[in-house]
Amino acid sequence: MTKKVDVELKNIQKSFGSNVVVEDFNLQIAQGECISFLGPSGCGKTTTLNMIAGFLEPNQGELIIKGKKMNGVPSNKRDLGMVFQTYSLFPHMTVAENVAYGLKLRKVAKAEIQERVQKVLQLVKLPHVADRYPKQLSGGQRQRIAIARALVTEPSVLLLDEPLSNLDAKLREELREELKRLRQVIGVTTIFVTHDQEEAMYLSDRIVVLDHGKVEQIGTPWDIYNNPASEFVHEFIGKSNRMEGTVDTVEDTIIRLTTNAGISIEAKRRKIPFTVGDQVSIYVRPEKINVLDSVKSSDSSSNVATGVVRYSSFLGSFTECMIEAGGELLNVRLQAAPQDLGMEQGGIVKLNWKTEDVYVFPRKGS
Ligand code: ATP
Repeated sequence: MTKKVDVELKNIQKSFGSNVVVEDFNLQIAQGECISFLGPSGCGKTTTLNMIAGFLEPNQGELIIKGKKMNGVPSNKRDLGMVFQTYSLFPHMTVAENVAYGLKLRKVAKAEIQERVQKVLQLVKLPHVADRYPKQLSGGQRQRIAIARALVTEPSVLLLDEPLSNLDAKLREELREELKRLRQVIGVTTIFVTHDQEEAMYLSDRIVVLDHGKVEQIGTPWDIYNNPASEFVHEFIGKSNRMEGTVDTVEDTIIRLTTNAGISIEAKRRKIPFTVGDQVSIYVRPEKINVLDSVKSSDSSSNVATGVVRYSSFLGSFTECMIEAGGELLNVRLQAAPQDLGMEQGGIVKLNWKTEDVYVFPRKGS
């Protein structure tokens, strides 16, 4: 059974003067889904969220929430919960009063307010801070309270605008786990704005990747990572080694290429069409490059390179090495200690990678 659509953006466009900052944005968000708007600074994430929130009106297009057209409807009539980067709690109110605020505005009975505030504080695991003031809380606690305040009215849609950005790395991780857990418990439809690809992948069912106001791709974290629609998406999501080269042959399922530095490469043929002689960008992710046991192993002449280890750094869950191979400087991530792999500085290693792990895009400006 297909799920109901909770939020729909139809050909949404927004300009400030002559500057078009959101272009022809189309999206359907299913009930209970968590969608992230992901992209670099200035790509239009917050502007789009602000149009959904009712803080900005689109110049064109339709915004529909729960089947009702929302263009022109004031923010407080859209049944939304919102959490921002800055905690925006009222400093002169206690935590309980802050959380109760939306319910008071809705003229909910006092006893019910008390009950719902207690319940939501338990949900964010902070029932003991109800009588404190915001300044008596840590940053992480304040953001949990901001989340509690957004959830207490049981909104149709939860909007989160970079809610983790002001927290240090450890707290960010804790709170994103918390958000994931909360979403599983309450299943509220959620739109999450972030420029952090890992956060987007961690929390979202689907991600909308934006660049300069244009939707580059909409897909699951798996799709965005493994089947990027463009060079921009591939580069923005995760790390990758970029080489420049030329197309030698285009066959049924593969493309053969040579990098400018002379490495022969075989790539899986994807949707983008190429012809012989095209100048291209070639990408292989660091974790997809293997170090072969022996420098002599592998008879293949494609997707292999012999290189010198320039340096390696042990980073706990993996070891990152920079290897100069065939005139390219390649970043390689390995799941073992450098000494076990013969990856000491100056060591000679043989690398290879699979055809399906090579991504080819037309060279910009070629
Ligand atoms: P960030 O991650 O830095 O917040 P963003 O992707 O959320 O970036 P937006 O805040 O949506 O980007 O801004 C998109 C573009 O619109 C930017 O070029 C910005 O300068 C411009 N912009 C945003 N608000 C206004 C405004 N009120 N008036 C004029 N230009 C604006």
